This record gives sequence, C-alpha cells and structure tokens, in this order.
Amino acid sequence: MRHLQNQDPAVAEAIRKEFARQRDHIELIASENFVSPAVLKAMGTVLTNKYAEGYPGKRYYGGCEYVDLAESLAIQRAMELFGAEHANVQPHSGAQANMAVYLAAVRPGDTILGMNLAHGGHLTHGSPVNASGQMYRFVPYGVNEKTHLLDYDEVRSLALKHRPRMLVVGASAYPRIIDFERLAQIAAEVGALFLADMAHIAGPVAVGLHPSPVPHAHFVTTTTHKTLRGPRGGIILCRKSWASQIDKAVFPATQGGPLMHIIAAKAVALGEAAQPAFADYTARVLTNAKALAEGLLAQDLNVLTGGTDNHLLLLDLRSIKMTGIDAQELLDSVGITVNKNAIPFDTASPMVTSGIRIGTPAVTTRGMGPAEMAELAGVIGAVLKHPSHAGVRGQARRKVKELTTAFPLYDDIID
Ligand code: PLP
Repeated sequence: MRHLQNQDPAVAEAIRKEFARQRDHIELIASENFVSPAVLKAMGTVLTNKYAEGYPGKRYYGGCEYVDLAESLAIQRAMELFGAEHANVQPHSGAQANMAVYLAAVRPGDTILGMNLAHGGHLTHGSPVNASGQMYRFVPYGVNEKTHLLDYDEVRSLALKHRPRMLVVGASAYPRIIDFERLAQIAAEVGALFLADMAHIAGPVAVGLHPSPVPHAHFVTTTTHKTLRGPRGGIILCRKSWASQIDKAVFPATQGGPLMHIIAAKAVALGEAAQPAFADYTARVLTNAKALAEGLLAQDLNVLTGGTDNHLLLLDLRSIKMTGIDAQELLDSVGITVNKNAIPFDTASPMVTSGIRIGTPAVTTRGMGPAEMAELAGVIGAVLKHPSHAGVRGQARRKVKELTTAFPLYDDIID
C-alpha cells in the first residue's frame, strides 16, 4: 500500500477502510469469500498491462507468449477440475458468461425456461430488467409454495407446454441440492438445450459435495469468486461441439481484451481448488451452514426448507414481524453482514423483502467452525428478536469483536 498511499491517499484510504470493514465484520453474504494471498497477488500484477484479444496461440496482438501460458493453465485446470471438454475462462463476470451462452445458442425471441428471480433464480435468467428478459421470451418456473423445493413437475409441464429452445437452471438463493440429471432429462424430452449456472455451488461441485451438472448440461457457467474462492469473474464450460461458438460469443461478440491479471488469478484459484485442502475447506463450509441453520432453528426462527444442503440458508422473518431490510441494517449495526433477500412468494418489495440470505464461505475461510456458528446463531437470534434492546446489541458487538480477533484476516499481508 506504500506506493498507493503516496500517489493517491484518497483511494488508499477507501481501500484501507474497506479492508478494516472486512477484517472487523462477520461476513455472512453467501456470494462472497476471501481469496488467498496468492490469488490476491496474481490480480495486482503487470498482466493487467497486456492486451490479448483472441485465445492462446491465436491473438490479435504481439507479445502474448506469457499471458498465453497463464490462460492455458487456467483453461486446463478448469477442464480438469470439472471434467469438462472445453473451458472459456475469459468472461469478466457470471452475467457475461450467461449472456455469451445465450448469444451462442439461442436467437432473440426464442423461448427459454428459467428459474424465477423471486424464487431464488438470478437476474440473468430472464428477469425483465435484464437484457436476457428483454431479448428472449423467458418462461419462469419456481419452487413449491409449501415445501419451497424446486418444483420439477412444474418445470416438466412448462417445458412440455412451451417447448423451449433452452432450459436454464441455477440459483442465487436455493439451499438444497439441484437434481441436474432430472432437469437434463426434462430438457432432452422436449429437445431443449440445457444451461446449468453453478455460480453459487461451483466449490461443492468441484470437490464432489454437490452433484455435478457437467455430464448432463450442454453448457455450464459459473462465477469464480463465490464458493470457488477465486477472483471476480466468470467461466463457461461446454461440450467440444459447442467450443467454437462459445469462444466466438465471448470474444469478439461480447468482450474485447481479456483481463489477463484476472485470468492468471483464476488459474491460481483453480489450482488451489484441486488441492485436498480445498475439499476439506468446502466440507467445512457445508458443515458450518448446517450448524448455523440448526442454531437458528433452535431459536424458533424460520429457516426455509428446514435447513440446507449447501453453503447458504434463507431466513423467513415474517414470524418475528421483521423485514429483510430492517434485519440487514440491524445486523450490520452489530458488525454482522448479511443481505436482505426475497423469499419465495414474498409480498414485500425487492428493496424491502421478508427474508435474509446467510452463507458460510467467508467465515469458513477465516477458520471458524461449528462452535463459532452456534455462537453466531445465538447472536443473530438475540439481535433479531430484541431489535430495540441496546444491551443485546452491545453483547453482540463484543462477540463479533471476540470472533474477528480470534480469526484474523490477511493480518500478515496487508499493511
Ligand atoms: N449466476 C448466478 C446464479 C449468480 O448468483 C450470480 C451472481 O450473484 C451470477 C450469475 C452473476 O455473476 P456476476 O455478479 O459475476 O455477474
């Protein structure tokens, strides 16, 4: 930070304050994580200086021999980690990865089945405010009103009725296993292409703790920064027969020069994900999510579906007459970061919501385990149930301080 501090103290201050926030808060946003020092280092390197439009060995610029090495490593590692026939590691984000798949495989106006955003799907799966929903005719499917589990029968009957060109499956807020094999059968039955967006669950998929969509889907997209614990970005995996169309849909169709420093960091993260330590870490993420869910259930809070199979859980706050936004702000005031989240069939607006989403990838990276999750569940429950009790909030802040001190973050690498 020394150079930055001298050159631009205002930006340096913003970064230092954000670091302090990450260090001093309990991070429970399910889509966030803390990258390793090696990933962090790769991002801040001279690779950011290099233009490399094209792909390894076939670039539109000279001097690409070394960035080719980095991108080839990322491609190879992505293919090996997920058992895929082809990988494109250039998408700048998960949203761009999805857009590239649509461009490669469907035409404007085509019908696509996608999970309803209000039921846990993602914006890029056909929300009317997203380009996907504006360019294609998305038909939404969702979860069962009673069980809050994916309604596979509804997916099938909608598929039979609408004969979509593509079925998109994947979620931002779904706490249970997704049966990709069954969904692939539904897609096959109506002759639809199958896109699985595993952005949230890529880590568990990588280590075999969630069934992989790769054998069943024509296309698999992911972000690299959630459970996979890499830099912000996206990856597309696909069958060999689609490789050329996918590559063209990323570059030149939707992106110019790739972010080579980020691609190098993706290679590092994918290398880490292939190590036994990452499998141990991911197992702990899931154990921690279960422990947190059990702790919250023990306080009579409404954990949707009664628990979780993955790294996240959804709390329905209506039983304690609180909104998602109020819960988010209340928890933030004691140093716990979560996000408000619509629950299926929510009647509150998306800016208010009736729920919060809680995830364990980041706290697990800090080294916390089930004992700490039980403590956190106690703190969260007490704060939410006694919103105007200053003593409870004071106690919560002390517990947050205790935990963040006992499980330090980057203390040896950021000055
Ligand atoms: N797909 C899913 C399922 C997601 O949850 C997200 C991000 O939250 C994305 C795609 C988009 O990723 P990004 O924010 O990198 O565009």
